[in-house]
Amino acid sequence: MTTSAPLELPGYAHVYSGKVRDLYAPLDPATGEARADQLLLVASDRLSAFDFILDSPIPDKGAVLTQLSLWWFEQLEDLVPNHVVSTDVPAEVAGRAVLVRRLEMLPVECVARAYLTGGGLREYQADGTVSGVRLPEGLVDGSRLPEPVFTPSTKAPVGEHDQPMPYAAVEAEIGPDLAARVRDLTTAILARGNEIATERGILIADTKVEFGLDADGSVLLADEVLTPDSSRFWPADLWEPGHPQPSYDKEYVREWLTSPDSGWDKASGEAPPSLPGDVVERTRAKYVEAYERLTGRSFG
Ligand code: ATP
Ligand code: MG
Repeated sequence: MTTSAPLELPGYAHVYSGKVRDLYAPLDPATGEARADQLLLVASDRLSAFDFILDSPIPDKGAVLTQLSLWWFEQLEDLVPNHVVSTDVPAEVAGRAVLVRRLEMLPVECVARAYLTGGGLREYQADGTVSGVRLPEGLVDGSRLPEPVFTPSTKAPVGEHDQPMPYAAVEAEIGPDLAARVRDLTTAILARGNEIATERGILIADTKVEFGLDADGSVLLADEVLTPDSSRFWPADLWEPGHPQPSYDKEYVREWLTSPDSGWDKASGEAPPSLPGDVVERTRAKYVEAYERLTGRSFG
């Protein structure tokens, strides 16, 4: 869902807009027809919080997400092939777009958790399990799990919440072989991600990845990977199990929206107000900081 009309890009046909990304099909220069085998994935500066797309964009967020995903795709290349074709994209979207192979996306949100919080914590407190996997006793909000656990969810239509999906339902949906493959890949991606991120001062509590099949039926990592939008990033030096951890990026946005300053009542169901300039700027700085810390590169 977009709040504004997607950009017109000569040579491309707009096909879909998600909460954050606008998708285009490249037009075949010979026939003028949309190509079926590729997509241009353009990451916008849109930010969602509390399931609303805010009307205040965060400058450079789309570029940070795109560059960070490209960097991670490279780090993970020996673990899993990915959808990237090229970063040769129209000048209007340079830096925040990538040309990818258009895949048949699997109808599963592949989530893995390395630390316990959120929905995983709630299930653990009720049943001692996450996604049906039994865990040791005595874990609290923010505890590190013995190893990453696969906790898939459904891909809800726009405007609805993703629902937890039992592993057996994933097997029923895509078959047992493919289910085992994406489960193992998802937990391996998070484990590798944390090996790299932890020594750079960031804990990746959990993450969501998406996989698709190419024409040969091979599984490819698609969409975005290990970004602050798809993952919970926690500052490693502030990690202290036993209470909610400060989130890396949307902290200021959530804090401000739920403070009296915003005048917004979360329970009202109404759209949140525009963000003040300093909240936008601090949020932008957090996205840039995550990119710079992880990659060791300076942004822009
Ligand atoms: P979510 O919250 O699940 O990420 P979204 O609405 O935020 O959903 P966006 O990230 O804004 O989604 O849009 C990206 C869309 O592009 C998703 O529907 C994703 O499944 C799809 N996608 C990503 N990579 C590919 C690919 N290689 N081939 C086909 N579709 C893809
Ligand atoms: Mg997405």
